[in-house]
Amino acid sequence: MATNPNLLVLKDLLQLPGNNECVDCGAPDPDWASYNLGVFICQECAGIHRSLGTHISKVRSITLDKWDDGQVEAMKDMGNLRSNELYVAEAPACYRRPLPSDVQVIREQWIMAKYVRKEFIDVEKQTYLTGTRDGILYKKGRDDGKFLPRRFVLSEAENTLKYYTDKKDPKAVINLDTVNATFAPEKINHANGLQITYDKDGSTRCLYVFSEIAQEIVDWYTSIRCAKLNRLRVAFPSRDDADLVASLNSDFLMEGWLSKTGPQKNHAFKKRWFTLDKRKLMYFDEPLAAFAKGEVFIGYREQGYSVGEKVPSNRSQVGYGFTLTVPDRDFILSAETKEEQLKWIEVLNSVIDTLVSPQDSSLSHFMVRKRGNSALNMLKIK
Ligand SMILES: [Zn+2]
Repeated sequence: MATNPNLLVLKDLLQLPGNNECVDCGAPDPDWASYNLGVFICQECAGIHRSLGTHISKVRSITLDKWDDGQVEAMKDMGNLRSNELYVAEAPACYRRPLPSDVQVIREQWIMAKYVRKEFIDVEKQTYLTGTRDGILYKKGRDDGKFLPRRFVLSEAENTLKYYTDKKDPKAVINLDTVNATFAPEKINHANGLQITYDKDGSTRCLYVFSEIAQEIVDWYTSIRCAKLNRLRVAFPSRDDADLVASLNSDFLMEGWLSKTGPQKNHAFKKRWFTLDKRKLMYFDEPLAAFAKGEVFIGYREQGYSVGEKVPSNRSQVGYGFTLTVPDRDFILSAETKEEQLKWIEVLNSVIDTLVSPQDSSLSHFMVRKRGNSALNMLKIK
């Protein structure tokens, strides 16, 4: 069987710098393309391109579809590097660029913003740069599972995010410096689900919200990032944007159910939802709880932190146990499967092997101080 010469040309084009990864999410070795846009894309992004309609993007498989000369010429003329120079020329630093592992809504909205709304060509269309946003998001009630529409107001000038349950006073005035927003579609059971955590009187408060409109939730997320970035630029004028952007949000390194015992030998195991946010390990009664039951700072190995499969022989075990050691305590934890146990140990070890940054260090002091406060409060109650 004769090899299609056009396929050989395409395979050569794929070797060129930029074409060896998906133009939208950066996944390696893309095997799809959009010939009217002249870009090479991965299978996941190809699915989104296809959903935009052929007036926006004409999608072809590199190997499975037939290519005519004109289509191949179009690929030659453009290519991923040139296309990105055109389509993301004005993309702001605060707009999150998707990674192959990112949730669907981030990937999809990046592609829509890029090729359909053409936001990264025209700064005027970037409503998230204004430092303010005012709108309705569905928010989970603190003590029940109901999501109700609530007005949220973002203000960069005030450095706050507020939400309202009625027309008058805000129900919460949140300091933006403490806000972390992360997409949580699975947990919230909505494709546009967003988790917003912040500090409330020394404890981490979690809000769970969504918008019916995918663009809305991504614009909220981006607006929060932009407001935070602008404030960081003022506070740290000598640090570059890439460095500051990295500190805008953190996705959870790991989440899941673990069983945990108390510090005493005879304490029973209780199932808790664990979340690892950078160096902060939190555990909750359930995945959508408003407050963590406990928060543990995970420091550097030489400061007395470690994790391993071994569980002290005098402690009972359920499932697949492991021990997390922090300077003043051993946490005996257990996963439901061997795979989860090893994954938790691996992720915790990678944190423990990473030096503590100045920001992390201030988090540590803050968490320790809080522990001091709660001890003080208990004394007061006595
Ligand atoms: Zn992709």
